[in-house]
Amino acid sequence: MYASQTTYHRAGSVSEAVRLLSENEGAKILAGGHSLIPLMKLRLSSPEALVDIGRIESLKGITGKDGAVCIGALATHAEIASSDVVSERVPLLAEAAGKVGDPAVRNRGTIGGNVSHADPSSDLPTVLTALDASYCVTGPGGERTIAAADFATGLLETALGENEVLTCVCVPSEPSGSGSAYVKFSHPASRYAVLGAAAVLTADGGRCSSASVAIGGVEPMAARSASAEAALAGSDLSDGALDAAAAAVCGDFGDNVLEDIFASSEYRKAMGPVYVRRALCEARARMG
Ligand SMILES: Cc1cc2nc3c(=O)[nH]c(=O)nc-3n(C[C@H](O)[C@H](O)[C@H](O)COP(=O)(O)OP(=O)(O)OC[C@H]3O[C@@H](n4cnc5c(N)ncnc54)[C@H](O)[C@@H]3O)c2cc1C
Repeated sequence: MYASQTTYHRAGSVSEAVRLLSENEGAKILAGGHSLIPLMKLRLSSPEALVDIGRIESLKGITGKDGAVCIGALATHAEIASSDVVSERVPLLAEAAGKVGDPAVRNRGTIGGNVSHADPSSDLPTVLTALDASYCVTGPGGERTIAAADFATGLLETALGENEVLTCVCVPSEPSGSGSAYVKFSHPASRYAVLGAAAVLTADGGRCSSASVAIGGVEPMAARSASAEAALAGSDLSDGALDAAAAAVCGDFGDNVLEDIFASSEYRKAMGPVYVRRALCEARARMG
């Protein structure tokens, strides 16, 4: 199907993008187009205007800064997966970016578009939530920062205000000696995650000193599992401790477990602990 008629604008800077969004009611930002264009062709989205941010230089690039990595909103999944600074400081993000879709999707899709689309099955929101990332946004009122955990507010909904542009994703480096892993149950055709689990584990003197566990694709937004993290805290990270933590994940699922043509809510609830356990095992094996 063809998309409905729309007006195309190309922004040369973030301030121009904000101005164009403000001047064109019902306009939407276009980045890699790998989520928005399919929605438009299905007529599930019919924006009056598109503001293409794809050539804004200040939104490109990946840099290491004071114990963190700052990733421009236009960085593609392929750039993130192959970045040395990302692989050294936040290997969990490099791993997840490398598992997005196929090469065509990874070469066009951007981190800013991925998180702004707020699809619960997207890979990056799950790992960015586990990594305590934050998002810099610019709008008519200036700049502000939103924590990854607070960014998605519902299915395909975000905390982005009217006419705001996500400019940069800031990710703290993983603690030294920690191990991390992202595992996903991929749909065989699209490779979207039916569900995905991320874990970061750190130990001190044989005991778990910090644990971060996040799961995506089960509820409308990716979320940390406070119960799994509590079960791991201070544990010896033995098989039994990982079993207990994985089982605890179910206690955090609310009434909104997703159900669609790919998996029932019962199946997702049953697979949650399985994939969390796999992520924990892999993270433990990678600890330095
Ligand atoms: C066949 C296929 C398979 C895929 N498989 C996976 C997968 O396995 N895992 C996965 O995570 N994703 C997958 N995706 C989605 C892909 O990762 C997209 O790249 C991503 O979801 C959107 O990024 P984009 O740059 O293409 O954004 P666009 O499609 O251009 O935009 C998406 C949405 O975000 C908004 N937006 C974009 N950039 C900004 C910004 N800087 N600030 C504010 N709002 C913005 C747009 O207005 C739009 O609403 C797949 C897509 C396809 C087509």
